[in-house]
Amino acid sequence: KMALSKKVMRVQPSATLAMAAKTKAMLAKGADVINLSLGEPDFTTPTAIESAAIDAIRSGKTSFYTPAGGLPELKQAIAQRVAADTGVKYQAKQIIATTGAKFALYLIFQVILNAGDEVLLPAPFWVSYAEQVKLAGGRPLLVHPTGENGKVTVADLEMVRTPQTQALVINSPQNPTGAIYTASELTALGHWAASHDILLIADEIYSHLVYNGNQFTSVIQLDQTIRDNTLLVSGLSKTYAMTGWRLGYVLGNAGIIQAMTTVASHATGNPTAVSQYAAIAALNGDQSAAEAMRLSFEQRLNYLFPKIQSLSGFELPTKPQGAFYLFPNVKRAVVRCGYTTTEDFVTDLLTQAYVAVVPGRAFGQPDYIRISYAASETQLAEAYQRMAEFLRTKG
Ligand code: PLP
Repeated sequence: KMALSKKVMRVQPSATLAMAAKTKAMLAKGADVINLSLGEPDFTTPTAIESAAIDAIRSGKTSFYTPAGGLPELKQAIAQRVAADTGVKYQAKQIIATTGAKFALYLIFQVILNAGDEVLLPAPFWVSYAEQVKLAGGRPLLVHPTGENGKVTVADLEMVRTPQTQALVINSPQNPTGAIYTASELTALGHWAASHDILLIADEIYSHLVYNGNQFTSVIQLDQTIRDNTLLVSGLSKTYAMTGWRLGYVLGNAGIIQAMTTVASHATGNPTAVSQYAAIAALNGDQSAAEAMRLSFEQRLNYLFPKIQSLSGFELPTKPQGAFYLFPNVKRAVVRCGYTTTEDFVTDLLTQAYVAVVPGRAFGQPDYIRISYAASETQLAEAYQRMAEFLRTKG
C-alpha cells in the first residue's frame, strides 16, 4: 500500500527550493544561468566559525547526543547575543536551538495548533509558513495588507480573525518585500494580538540585514505584555552565511519551549553537534565578518534597486529596507510579453534568458516575482542586461 496521507497531499513542495533545484540542474549541465532564486547568502561562512567547527570535530565533540534543545553553552551564547542586540534577557528554559529556523517554526505550529485552528499570515509571506500550518492540522488565513509599503494593519487582521485564530506571524525585515515594521506599528499589532489571546510569532531571521540607516525594532523590545505573548524566531543562516549548517532558535514562554523540545527530541533529536559549536563561535565572536557581508548586501541593493525599477512593465515603488530580495509586481510585463501566468514568464526567463527568479504565487501574490540580490555585482549587472533584453525582444 503506497497511499499518502490526506494531510501530506494538501502540502505544496517549496517553490523556492523547486526553482533552485531546476536552476542547479541547468548549471550542472553547464548552462550559464545566473541564479537569483536563492534565499542563501553567496558568501562562505566566516573562517573563525569554520575553525571552531573543525576544532569541535578534531577534539571528539561529535560522538554524543547533546540535549535535544541544544547545548547549555549555545543557549547562553544565544541569550547573550539577544541581550546585546535588544537589551532583553532570557533564561535557558526559555530558549531552544533547532535544526534551522525552518524547523523551529515547524515545531511551534506542532505544539500550539489543534485541528482547525487558524494562523494569520500577512501576504506576501515566506513560502513555508502556510504549508507548516497545514502539516500541523491548522488552517492558514491569508491577510491582505493595506498598510504603508505592503505592511499589515490591525484593521486588516480584524477583517479575517475568527474565534479559531490562535497565532499571527510577523516577519520583519520581511522576505520577500524587505519591509521593516516600525516600533509603533509593532506595538499596535502586538497589543491587538495580546488582547485577543493570539500568539505573536515574530520571525526576525533578517534582523541583522538592515540597510541605509533604516532602524530595526525587535518585537521583544516593545513592552512586557507583548513580550510575554511573543515567540521570537531567528537563526544563523542569513547573518553569518550559515544556511547549510542548519541552526535556528526560539525564545519565549518556557512551557511552549519545553513542548517544542519534547517534539524535537522525537523528531531530529538535537541540532547537529558540530553546527552548535560553530554557532557558539559565531554568536560569541567578533561580529565584523557579519557586518562586512551586510555592507555588501547594502551596496548590491543600492545598485540593483533602480535598475529593476526601470525595467519596462515592472513596478517596485518602495525601496526595501532589509533582507536581500526585491519583489516587483510584473503583471504588465507578463501580459505585454504574451504570457498568461507569471510562472510561464519565469520559466522562459530561466530557459531563454538564463536568469532564475521565483514566481510570487507561493508567497501569496501571483503577480509578483522575487529576485534575490545575494549575488555579486557582476552577476547582478549581467542579470539586469539579460532581463532588459528579454523584455525588449518579447514585449
Ligand atoms: N524565515 C524566513 C523568513 C526565511 O526567509 C527563512 C529562510 O529562507 C527561514 C525562516 C528559515 O531559515 P533557516 O531554516 O535556514 O534558519
